[in-house]
Amino acid sequence: MSIQTAGPGDTSPLRLVPLGGLGEFGLNAMVVEWEDHILLLDAGMLFPSAEMPGVDSIVPDFAYLAERADRVRAIVLTHGHEDHIGALYYALQSAPAPVYGSRLTLGFARKRLQERGVSPDFRTLIPGEPVEVGPFRLHPIRVAHSVLDSLALAIETPAGVLLASGDFKIDAGAPPEERTDLDAISAWGERGVLVLLSDSTNAEVTGTTGGEDDVVPAFEDVVARTRGRVLVSCFATSIPRMQRVADVARQAGRPVAFLGRRMVSNAEVARDLGLLRLPDGAQIGTLPREETDPALVFVSGSQGEPLSALSMVSLGEHRDLAAGPGDTVVLSARAIPGNERAVSRLISNLLRLGCDVVHPGLERVHVSGHGSQGDMHELLRRVRPRYLVPVHGEYRMLVQHARLAAAAGFPPDDLLVAEDGEVLSLSRRGAFREPRVAAGRTLLDRSSGGEVEDFVVRDRRHLSAQGVVVPIVVVDRQTGRLESPPEIVTRGVVEGEAGAEIAEQASRLLADAIDARPAEERLDLPATRERVRRELRRFLRNRTQQRPVVIPVVMEV
Ligand SMILES: [Zn+2]
Ligand SMILES: [Zn+2]
Repeated sequence: MSIQTAGPGDTSPLRLVPLGGLGEFGLNAMVVEWEDHILLLDAGMLFPSAEMPGVDSIVPDFAYLAERADRVRAIVLTHGHEDHIGALYYALQSAPAPVYGSRLTLGFARKRLQERGVSPDFRTLIPGEPVEVGPFRLHPIRVAHSVLDSLALAIETPAGVLLASGDFKIDAGAPPEERTDLDAISAWGERGVLVLLSDSTNAEVTGTTGGEDDVVPAFEDVVARTRGRVLVSCFATSIPRMQRVADVARQAGRPVAFLGRRMVSNAEVARDLGLLRLPDGAQIGTLPREETDPALVFVSGSQGEPLSALSMVSLGEHRDLAAGPGDTVVLSARAIPGNERAVSRLISNLLRLGCDVVHPGLERVHVSGHGSQGDMHELLRRVRPRYLVPVHGEYRMLVQHARLAAAAGFPPDDLLVAEDGEVLSLSRRGAFREPRVAAGRTLLDRSSGGEVEDFVVRDRRHLSAQGVVVPIVVVDRQTGRLESPPEIVTRGVVEGEAGAEIAEQASRLLADAIDARPAEERLDLPATRERVRRELRRFLRNRTQQRPVVIPVVMEV
């Protein structure tokens, strides 16, 4: 099939259907659609914060894909971060299709799917080598990011070229195999790009983002001044970081080891692909048997995740690793919004053990993987697209990204800020917003293996914050009269003597309210239940200033 990249545009428009990642972090999933052909760009997931009790993971709502499964030509992954590949299993369940990505990305994805007993049709993308997928031609472009083998994608479609930046920074000082390929990006600018989807994460950060090499001096310093072990916790995907830190350890003559499930699994994948070069005798999954010099150990859990290796260390409960005076723990990652309290607790617990703790607030042991305003400007200047769609960020960041572009002279009408579910229809003739489609979050609960509805989470939150009150009312089937005084069962409301007194008052109040029902309500169970709920709520609010969940049980005998 011949593909036109320029010319009179009387072809069908390109449709963009964001299923996730626009307006809220994490669930990156963009449908690229032309006539009957669909590509899904990324399938990310999110770990819930403490405000969602009982929810294990959050994935995009893939209903839009499932309804069009026969049109899905490919799932294309830009890089191996959780917020881009974590929901691949669910995307494939909605629409089985070949999965494209770079070596390391597929390495990570393969391992995760193996754990679930799934092996899809994986196809490797290599920068500079285009592949045809239906009416689309994908051109992978190398970009710098905090995980190796990250890609931007130029996608030729019959309606024009879409360029998706993926998560990126420019990092011009990085080694060639890690650097963003600015020449390739400029070449697409010359050919003409219909729409640029560009990373907005750091739209509120001025200047340009530094390189991975910037962390080396701080690590050299830590390694030199620490008598005991150095524990380093970064994201388990941060292979470029691990490489640099492992090199520092090697130069200092320290053995290197990896602990924690995801850390171990990713280090193995990267090492086997030749993307992580470790000193001889490096241990993946165990500590060095003999430490002539104290080891440097990479440990999972930089976000303070409750069951992670580092959390267990911080509580003195890790089976193999104890930390104490003389040891230094380096948190080589920023706290993801929502995790700040857990990270803070982690730091305090480690300090209680007597070790030293170094984090990005104190020393330069982390650099962002996302470009700042300067990086965004440079990309836009090189690509010069007809339309710009800010992606990857909270709504405030998308808006800020658009404002930056406008300030740099980009035509405001061609700046398209959209949120999840808002469909954009693009062609050389113009851009249109189509009616919204279903998109949003699906909450997953591992213990039940199923989905959790939003209202269930709301209830759980409510229950944990305010407790529960269950009034039990027994009425006569024939007359509707009370059989016995209402019984009030409470959990987490007011305990002890005061609680007993309130329960007694509530019971009397309900007895009166039930006696006072109008005749037509006496045999109406739902109406009685509602009355019990209403009266009890009002009473509890006035007496205790609390709003517990009230679950009336009304029975007939
Ligand atoms: Zn990323
Ligand atoms: Zn991301």
